[in-house]
Amino acid sequence: MSKATQLYVAAGTLSIPLLLFLYLLAQPDVSWQAPAFHFYYVVVSAAIASIIATFAYREYSRTQQLRIYLLAVGFIGISVLYCVHAFITPGKSIVNFPSMKHHVNAFVFFGDMSRLWVSLFFIPQTFIADKSYRKLSWLPLVVIAVVLAGLSIFMLQNPESFPDIKHSNGLDTHFAVITKVITVVFLVITVARYYEGWRIIPNPALMALLIGISLLSQTPIVFLLSKPWGQTWWLAHHLYLLSFIIIGLGLLYSRRCEQIRFFDVFKQIEETMNTIEQQKAALELANKQLIAKSAALEKMAFIDNLTGAFNRQHFDSEANREIDRVQRYQHQASVILIDIDHFKIVNDTYGHDAGDQVLIELVQAIQDNIRASDVLARWGGEEFVILTPHLSCAEAGQFAEKLRALIDGCLLDDKHVTISLGVAECHETDTVKSWVMRADKALYQAKATGRNKVVCYNG
Ligand code: GH3
Ligand code: MG
Ligand code: MG
Repeated sequence: MSKATQLYVAAGTLSIPLLLFLYLLAQPDVSWQAPAFHFYYVVVSAAIASIIATFAYREYSRTQQLRIYLLAVGFIGISVLYCVHAFITPGKSIVNFPSMKHHVNAFVFFGDMSRLWVSLFFIPQTFIADKSYRKLSWLPLVVIAVVLAGLSIFMLQNPESFPDIKHSNGLDTHFAVITKVITVVFLVITVARYYEGWRIIPNPALMALLIGISLLSQTPIVFLLSKPWGQTWWLAHHLYLLSFIIIGLGLLYSRRCEQIRFFDVFKQIEETMNTIEQQKAALELANKQLIAKSAALEKMAFIDNLTGAFNRQHFDSEANREIDRVQRYQHQASVILIDIDHFKIVNDTYGHDAGDQVLIELVQAIQDNIRASDVLARWGGEEFVILTPHLSCAEAGQFAEKLRALIDGCLLDDKHVTISLGVAECHETDTVKSWVMRADKALYQAKATGRNKVVCYNG
């Protein structure tokens, strides 16, 4: 069954009792006064509740989750209080009440309290932190059952201690209404919490729990709108028993399928969420690595392998952009073409590898002395080009002279080398090729007139 189908089935199942209720409302006068039936019916319901409590305790022994222990407490309470409710059924009561009013108050009180009691333990069951309590034995459960039973007997012996539950016209007092409203609110919150869980890990056992608690949450409403022995009153009892049966069936199912821990739903949700978190973290890490790799790849696409300067393609696109700016804003920009003097001699004397090292250190030296907005690229072989935005030919010439003096005054790979530089300013009509060609002409002139010098292109 798909998730959506399961949801529709659940919604349909939940609405059946309400539809029945609406149907029965049409016959409010029908009543069936059957104390013996009520007695056995409630005793059976209470017995099923105590079985659920036992299963919950066994589940607690296995998982040591406090919240599951609380469920056992909840269902133990139901079985005690509901049993008392059965044993004071009007017409079958084992207690002689001084008045009818006392009897009705006691009778309804125990029914309402059984539901309030379990609703109180469902809420923390869904919210409590995941903690282990190994020391809890079955003893506190027995103590709770004995205390509840003792308290009930004490109250039955003092019937005036019961609050007023019913008005003389059969309607609930404020006390009774508030008790029922609290029960419904708590149970509805529990249903919402379980529904959240079901959306994360949908399984039949959880669905049974969800349906069971939903039915349970309907019972106080139906009781509120019913009269004793009326059809809706019986319906409320049916809903109550049905909720236990459904929870019990879910429990049996979960015991047969080991991977589902019926009462340990919220632990399972946490585990699922943890797995998702771990997968998310792994995914994020992989994503980061991917981004880093693609950034490195992208960098490789416009960086010269040997020297780390930009490559010619990158220079071309930057120079094109600069030409665009020159045309649009009439500002200045220049290029400086650099060629190492007599580099062949370096290669021939020290070897190609030493020549490579000179190139690397030359780039490093220039890189350390240019602005962030300047673009240093390898033009080819031992020739480099610098794009200097905002500089006129004269200014770029001064800057080129500074670089020349810098290289002349230092050693690259322990060798003294000099460079010749040709400078050209950008014209509005330029292409990259025509612009660099002028710088090349200037460089040629520098070579022709003695090397280790800067020539700015004129004309
Ligand atoms: P000039 O002063 O006229 O420039 O003399 P030059 O010897 O430097 O002449 P040219 O510029 O024509 O020399 C280019 C030399 O640079 C030739 C080649 O062996 C060397 N070269 C080009 N690329 C590399 C490189 O990647 N590594 C090394 N080690 N040498 C290179
Ligand atoms: Mg050359
Ligand atoms: Mg050269």
